[in-house]
Amino acid sequence: MSNIETEDLSLDEISKLAKTVFSNNGCDENNTNALARTVTTAERDGSLSHGLFRVPGYVASLKSGKVKGDAQPKIDNKLASIVTVDGDFGYAPLAIEKGLPVAVEAAKNTGVAVIRLINTFHFAALWPETEFLAENGLMGLACTVYKPAVAPAGASTPFFGTNPVSFAWPRPDNDPFVFDMATSTLAMGDVQIAARDGHEVPHGTGLGPDGKPSDDPAEILKGVLLPFGGYKGSAIALMIELLSAGMTGDNFSFEAGETDNNDGGPAKGGEFILAINPQLVVGDNWSEHCEEFFRRIKAIEGVRLPGERRHKNRRDKGPRKVNKELLERIRKLI
Ligand code: NDP
Repeated sequence: MSNIETEDLSLDEISKLAKTVFSNNGCDENNTNALARTVTTAERDGSLSHGLFRVPGYVASLKSGKVKGDAQPKIDNKLASIVTVDGDFGYAPLAIEKGLPVAVEAAKNTGVAVIRLINTFHFAALWPETEFLAENGLMGLACTVYKPAVAPAGASTPFFGTNPVSFAWPRPDNDPFVFDMATSTLAMGDVQIAARDGHEVPHGTGLGPDGKPSDDPAEILKGVLLPFGGYKGSAIALMIELLSAGMTGDNFSFEAGETDNNDGGPAKGGEFILAINPQLVVGDNWSEHCEEFFRRIKAIEGVRLPGERRHKNRRDKGPRKVNKELLERIRKLI
């Protein structure tokens, strides 16, 4: 196991660093602030594969001109429940921040809303969008695709992205229930971090370039990741392709792979976000009913709910330990 050096940074320092890097690399104020919020909240919650770790990739795509730093997302919701957010070829966070309140309003009035996010580049965790919906009393579901990195069950050729899905359930007097996971056994960011830090990855994470199972992240990065749970995870990854690309009209992973310039940043794609209002669908008492369910599951020894680790991290207002080598790379981008 390698000795990893870290540096303590407050959340304020993380936010300032991110803002400086993004604004010095071509982002206007709105995009800078939205991206810095994404990076900072990821670090705050301990979503380390999608915080500062992603900054060099964000900058690479700004520099290559693939992603617009002054993108101005536009919203079209002529149909009350269908909110199309065209990201204007910018990073997803600003487009999402603009679209979510419109979807909340729609779901509060009609019971359901779909965000069809298109022409964006998503390089972040998905929980910020689903958790926002749950904090507004709605069930949230979000998914997106990426470039081919995961072999469908039975194959050794990459075809699916790591295709994350997040789901959040509102709990009026508690933190919302939220899960957010790649449908590969490990997220690509975690495999990259394991390769950087010299850790093995769990068996079943992927295949090496020879098509044989490997526990070495560097070999898997040259080979292919596997879906979680065999053919079952493979089916969910396939569904995510259809929701995120078929249902938005933006790229499937294979299309993103064929058109991306491979500059180190994310590929263009869409995101599918669904909001449902339990108050309108179920009526009064939906929350008491569900809270009893949560009481029961929490009473089982050994159970910890997804999202609890992040919410606990969030309550810690102290500095975060940031990988020193990563910080040095980021500071060179200023
Ligand atoms: P993890 O495997 O770390 O966690 C997945 C979920 O399981 C989380 O909600 C986590 O909650 C929960 N969890 C973890 N351990 C336990 C446990 N022991 N008991 C109960 N629940 C548990 O996430 P991934 O590595 O799969 O994904 C990481 C991130 O990568 C996600 O945020 C995803 O959105 C992002 N991603 C983004 C992509 C993109 O293109 N934008 C592509 C792929 C992934 P908790 O957080 O509380 O630990």
